[in-house]
Amino acid sequence: MKSIPLNLSCPRCFSKNLYKFGKDKEGNQKFQCKSCKRQWAPDAKPFKSKYPSCPKCGKTSFLHHDYKLYSNFRCNDRKNCNHSFFVVKLVEVPPTSSKDLKLESFTMKRMRHPFHIVLTALVQYFIGNSTFRKVAETLYLTNQVKVSHVTISKWCKRFAPALFNVTNRYKDQINVSDSDEWHFDETYIKIKGKWYYLWLAIDSETRMILDFHLSPYRDATSAFSLIHSCQSQYGTPQTMFVSDRYPAYRQAFEKLLPEKIHLRVEDFADNISNNVIEAFNGQFKAWYKTKRGFQSFESANTLIALYIFFYNFIRPHQSLSKFTPAQVAGAKYSEKTRLSLLLIS
Ligand SMILES: [Zn+2]
Ligand SMILES: [Zn+2]
Repeated sequence: MKSIPLNLSCPRCFSKNLYKFGKDKEGNQKFQCKSCKRQWAPDAKPFKSKYPSCPKCGKTSFLHHDYKLYSNFRCNDRKNCNHSFFVVKLVEVPPTSSKDLKLESFTMKRMRHPFHIVLTALVQYFIGNSTFRKVAETLYLTNQVKVSHVTISKWCKRFAPALFNVTNRYKDQINVSDSDEWHFDETYIKIKGKWYYLWLAIDSETRMILDFHLSPYRDATSAFSLIHSCQSQYGTPQTMFVSDRYPAYRQAFEKLLPEKIHLRVEDFADNISNNVIEAFNGQFKAWYKTKRGFQSFESANTLIALYIFFYNFIRPHQSLSKFTPAQVAGAKYSEKTRLSLLLIS
């Protein structure tokens, strides 16, 4: 017979004066404390319901109905609460394509060109709507730097993980959950001659792009991916707007944000929020036009994420008193930091 483990002590009074006390239902050895009479099984797993607790009262819930993309749970306290709620099924709803981006810390190692040349190139490409060829040409004219358009494209890929990484520094500072409206929309882009949907979520108050999702489909699953991702990062605003007739969003809104108002923008012809997304779409399309499509899903995903990075964090907006959307949303960085693309603070 095994003796009582030496390092075992009573969880209540920390006494080491213990008895063995039979086994629990799962066959785990139980002990009893001689001093305070507490009984417990050290190896027993703590009880945890596989269902989420009720968001209203915190009590346990039961599965009421299972759907393809979400489950409907109901509160077990049927007398006092009886709350019914929906939870997205992460097995069925993939993360947004923005979650595929790699993150790395910034380094200039093995770079043949100085940092300010790289900065200039990236700003020209993402804010100046230049093509890689035009950027290469301008660098030669202004700085006597001779690089090919392929090199500029490689700089984008090389610095993307560091640029995405720095935005994480500001994640905690950004607050868009007390915003009045988030606006959902999508636009089209071409990858290797095939059309893709770029799903977008924008906060109308700060004009910040909250997240994006690049997908070949215009389906309910993509809407769930985008809305769930925004919610898990930023909470929920007062109102949701959809600028599209497509019912894909409706299901996701109704299930994931049942207490929030969701409106179709067509019902509000001269809505401010509509102008916000139109303004972004106009700028994005002007940039996209110079690209004439993307070469691969991965490069489209990275370049669009970079475009959004420049839009959110670097480009000051006239309508925001020359601040960036991220600054208006609460991110604190100096002008010097902004001009170094947040890489050097
Ligand atoms: Zn005890
Ligand atoms: Zn409840």
